[in-house]
Amino acid sequence: MNRPERPNRFEVHDADALSTARALIEACADAREMGQKVQEAVARNAAWRGEECINLLAPEAPTSPSVRALLAAEIGTRAAEGHIGKVNRWFAGTRHIDEVEALCVELLKKHFRCSYADHRLCASMIGNAVVYTALSAPGDVIMSAAQPVGGHSSNRIDGPAGAMGRRIVDIPFDAQELVVDIDLFRKMAPLVQPRLVALGLSMTLFPQPLSEMKEAIQPWGGRLFFDAAHQLGLIGGRQFQDPLNEGADIVTGSAGKTFSGPQSGIIIWDDPEITEAVTTAIFPVWAATHQVNRVAALALATAEALAFGEQLQAQIVANAKALAGHLHERGVPILGAHKGFTTTHQAIADVTRFGRGLKVAQTLERAHIIVNKNLLPSDRKQDWDYPGGLRIGTIEVTRYGMKEAEMAKIAEMIARVVVGGETPERVRPEAVALRRSFPTLYYCFENGSPSP
Ligand SMILES: *Cc1c(COP(=O)(O)O)cnc(C)c1O
Repeated sequence: MNRPERPNRFEVHDADALSTARALIEACADAREMGQKVQEAVARNAAWRGEECINLLAPEAPTSPSVRALLAAEIGTRAAEGHIGKVNRWFAGTRHIDEVEALCVELLKKHFRCSYADHRLCASMIGNAVVYTALSAPGDVIMSAAQPVGGHSSNRIDGPAGAMGRRIVDIPFDAQELVVDIDLFRKMAPLVQPRLVALGLSMTLFPQPLSEMKEAIQPWGGRLFFDAAHQLGLIGGRQFQDPLNEGADIVTGSAGKTFSGPQSGIIIWDDPEITEAVTTAIFPVWAATHQVNRVAALALATAEALAFGEQLQAQIVANAKALAGHLHERGVPILGAHKGFTTTHQAIADVTRFGRGLKVAQTLERAHIIVNKNLLPSDRKQDWDYPGGLRIGTIEVTRYGMKEAEMAKIAEMIARVVVGGETPERVRPEAVALRRSFPTLYYCFENGSPSP
């Protein structure tokens, strides 16, 4: 029986991209060839993004060859769910999986200097859902940061927080200083008495007043949740404020951003009182089989971070400051100039006068320089698809051994295109040459650190 045609059905994906894929599949002689089409697209990406681009995406990090190898390990075909230990598992045969997972947990606790850590979340966003489940209830008022000042959808009405029925009040933000407006927060918080304050910033340049925020919500037992998706590696490598020591009750983070491990989520906390609520929200609420290959890769990446983290993260920040400074000097305005531009792995450029973020990012892509369009605090709701900013990050270039001198070269290439109006295709060979002259991934056991 034929299913009825639905010609006007809603489709979220780009219609051209899907119809190109359909045509490709239909032109194949058999399913084997269809599989080859997938492998070929993956190879094209590896050649282009892996070898010919200056990747400056702030949430992106390459993993070491051994971490990447573990992602394809046999252990990734095994099923494990539940907590570590013979009685806790549903499936038999998990003896060595228990070893790997226990190593991962203990390595995370050691690196992040905390009492508890969890490794089972396939994404940081799911970690945030865990926190909402454990520390708040449907109908509760929570406070979180709005997207134009750097907030992330996971803590907003259009993400898990909203879908789970939390009522959201904005954390007041000082758009000039790019930090929480603590005076206003002290006035607002008692009026709404949030059960949970969720501070998560995808645009993150400066430390936030966490201890002051915790103090302000203490009277009614409000909990402070720091969503460190971006800053996780900086925190582990002691190059950012340490949220658990400054009043945060719980911290989540992405393992694939500054932490430079396999993409996934981590949760760390110290308070034994919240442990039962948090761990039962992890399993059985938000995790079941949890990709043990990824857990193994995470454990190895954590060992790398113990060995190289401080050095790597310090260079990431030094490179971000250098890149920001050179761009600003060359006429690309960078936010936070009066505060030294940044204390993290990111710089935010205001490109409103150069055609706005989407157009500039697409133009730079033609030069093989990859950045993302980004909201600015001054952007309005109707600007969201065409925001005024660019976000530029230094994780990958740093892992390939680039330092301040290379940041000057990258800034020059960007400025020639953005400010000077040079055709990106003319800059491209220089970008490719620079990328090719740094072929080795550092800050890992096989290759060590780059020479000073
Ligand atoms: C990236 C990000 C997340 C989501 O992390 P994933 O690992 O991609 O799920 C959550 N919060 C903030 C602030 C982020 O920047």
